[in-house]
Amino acid sequence: MFLEILDIFGRGLKLRCPCCGHGRLFRTAFRTYGHCSACGERFEREPGQSFGAIYINVGLSALLAVSGYLVTNAFSTLTMSQQLGIRLLVAALGPVLFFRLAKGLWTSIIFLGEGLYLQWPNR
Ligand SMILES: [Zn+2]
Repeated sequence: MFLEILDIFGRGLKLRCPCCGHGRLFRTAFRTYGHCSACGERFEREPGQSFGAIYINVGLSALLAVSGYLVTNAFSTLTMSQQLGIRLLVAALGPVLFFRLAKGLWTSIIFLGEGLYLQWPNR
């Protein structure tokens, strides 16, 4: 069971269908498919369901900003204003960089919570 959960999260990290692992989640850089092209699993059950991905995105962006702060503070000789400039840039780009990853992980979480249409394990 635990390995299966890890596998489902791995599919989310790879931006694949959490059900079968074959169909792609994203049609374009920021648009997802409605259904899996391989198994037909519906990715978003209702409008607004993907809102939870925002929390994952914010968490990942905050983690990046904090780790960036720790690294630049400990290992660089940059001035405080230079570090602040880098951190602001990272904080602005983080949500864009993590958008797809957060969406993939959230789709996996929804899948684990039986929020998608097909019944498991008959998918
Ligand atoms: Zn699929």
